[in-house]
Amino acid sequence: MTKKGVKILSETGLQNQMREFLKKSLEKGVFDAVILPIRVPAGDSYAWILMDDISIIDQSNPIPPVMPVQGAKALKSLTRKGNGILNIATIMRPCEIRATIELTKLNQVNLDKITLISYDCPGAVPMSGYNNLPDQMEDIFQTALSEKNFESDKMKDVCEMCVDFSNVASDLHFGFAGTDDIYLIPNSEKGQSALDKLDLSTTENLTEWNNTITKIKEIKSQNKARIYEEVQPTVEGLDALLKTYEKCIGCHNCQSACPICYCRQCYFDSATSKQTADYLQAKAEQRGGIAFPRDKVMFQVGRMSHMSLSCVSCGQCMDACPVDIPVGKIFSYVGSQTQDTFEYNAGDSASEAIPLKVYEQDELEKIHKIVKNAEPHGGQHE
Ligand code: SF4
Ligand code: SF4
Repeated sequence: MTKKGVKILSETGLQNQMREFLKKSLEKGVFDAVILPIRVPAGDSYAWILMDDISIIDQSNPIPPVMPVQGAKALKSLTRKGNGILNIATIMRPCEIRATIELTKLNQVNLDKITLISYDCPGAVPMSGYNNLPDQMEDIFQTALSEKNFESDKMKDVCEMCVDFSNVASDLHFGFAGTDDIYLIPNSEKGQSALDKLDLSTTENLTEWNNTITKIKEIKSQNKARIYEEVQPTVEGLDALLKTYEKCIGCHNCQSACPICYCRQCYFDSATSKQTADYLQAKAEQRGGIAFPRDKVMFQVGRMSHMSLSCVSCGQCMDACPVDIPVGKIFSYVGSQTQDTFEYNAGDSASEAIPLKVYEQDELEKIHKIVKNAEPHGGQHE
């Protein structure tokens, strides 16, 4: 059956309509509370705020220009130790929802009492630009949003190639690309039940919106192919990696900002990874010198091997890098290679297990054959 949506008024703008929807939902008891971004008093960032006071919702911005903290991290902090008693709704970017879905599979987020609401995302502006000129960046973003421009060159590099910028595994979705209207689209029983409680009927045909999303996806797919072609030579082989990360200062900001890196204690920050002065001096003598900080490439390769199956290409790592290493594009490229190998797309569905987390006897058959064929005598040992 073709999916349908609820048409809602667009005159007052998307963000106002989202706030109105949430206020009505709280009034009618559909949700007990919401978690949304609110601009900090200094005006140069946003914080996720859990609130049940309807009057505060007007201060929120459900579609902020920047992502200082990935929404999945906020939900992880809220629900890692259980879901609590409140039914909570949140509006997040598609990449935040996809990271949330990955974290549920890793038992880091509990969605039992959370309703996820997504929207057609025009991207997010880079944190560095926003830090310097917050008001101008607010205007630039608001223009892109009101013009329904999904190809603005003012957004983060990863947004240019994001093919998952629209409907994702949320419960409800606000679609507005390519139409004069706004559609509220249910994606799950939880989403449908929220609409039923608000007496909202899904009667609207979504063809025009669907067609626009397909066209934008095609453009973004081409951008992705081009960007991956640029990234590939910068990560293939040890020499390339050493060059790419030569200016890394070892701050590990990329790891702290990543929603998927959830280990409480990273090996590279642990006492086990630290060497004695005697050991380091012996190494320096043996090699003619050693570089500090240590293990720059090992750290990146370790992180890749840990989480590239779940990388959602949100670019938070790149936003957080103080020396402008394109970590987000690199992890997106490596992640896509890893995920393609297992025919998996991170964040697509909560019911699809992360490969290698659940062992299937024949899942490595394809790789096994490639390795066998590459061996001398096609793997036939004498
Ligand atoms: S590695 Fe970077 S792009 Fe991938 S999920 Fe983590 S922060 Fe996002
Ligand atoms: S944020 Fe940048 S400088 Fe810091 S560890 Fe990551 S890649 Fe290196």
